[in-house]
Amino acid sequence: MNDKSDCVFCKIVAGEMPAKIVYESETALAFLDIGPVAQGHLLVIPKDHYSRLSDMPAEACATLAADLPGLARAVLTVTGASAFNLLQNNGRVAGQVVEHVHFHLIPRKAGDGLGYRWEAGEYPPGRDVEIAEAYKAALAQTAG
Ligand code: 5GP
Ligand code: ZN
Repeated sequence: MNDKSDCVFCKIVAGEMPAKIVYESETALAFLDIGPVAQGHLLVIPKDHYSRLSDMPAEACATLAADLPGLARAVLTVTGASAFNLLQNNGRVAGQVVEHVHFHLIPRKAGDGLGYRWEAGEYPPGRDVEIAEAYKAALAQTAG
C-alpha cells in the first residue's frame, strides 16, 4: 500500500501534476488516462486517497459510483463507441499499478481487438456451497 505523499493521483487532485481533467465535483475527478487502451479512455477517482475499493466507506463509494452513469454516457457520445468496459483493479496481482482507487471507462467498438473474455472455470462438487456459506458468514459480520 502507498500513501498520499507519493500518490500520482493525489498529485493530480492537488493540481501538482497535469492531467486532462474532463469532470470535477466536490469529491471526484475524471480525466484522460495517460496511456489509453482506446481513444477517450477515462479514469474516475475519488479525491480522497484510498488504495483499494475495499478500503472505502460505503458512502464514499456510493457517491463516486453515482457519477459513473453520466460519465459512461459521455464516453459513448464523445467517442462514438457502441459499448464500454468499466474496470477497477485492486492490488498488484489484479493489475493495479496506481494504488489510488480508480475506475477505468474504456470505450469499445466492434473489431477493436481489445478482447474481454476470461476463461470460465468450475467448482469441484460441493465447493460452491462451502464458498457461498463462507461468504454469507463473512458478510454477516463485515458488510457495509
Ligand atoms: P491500473 O493498472 O492501476 O488499474 O491503472 C492505472 C492507470 O493509470 C493506467 O492505465 C495508466 O496509464 C494510468 N496512469 C498512470 N499514471 C498516470 C498519470 O500520471 N496521469 C494519467 N492521466 N494517467 C496515469
Ligand atoms: Zn492518492
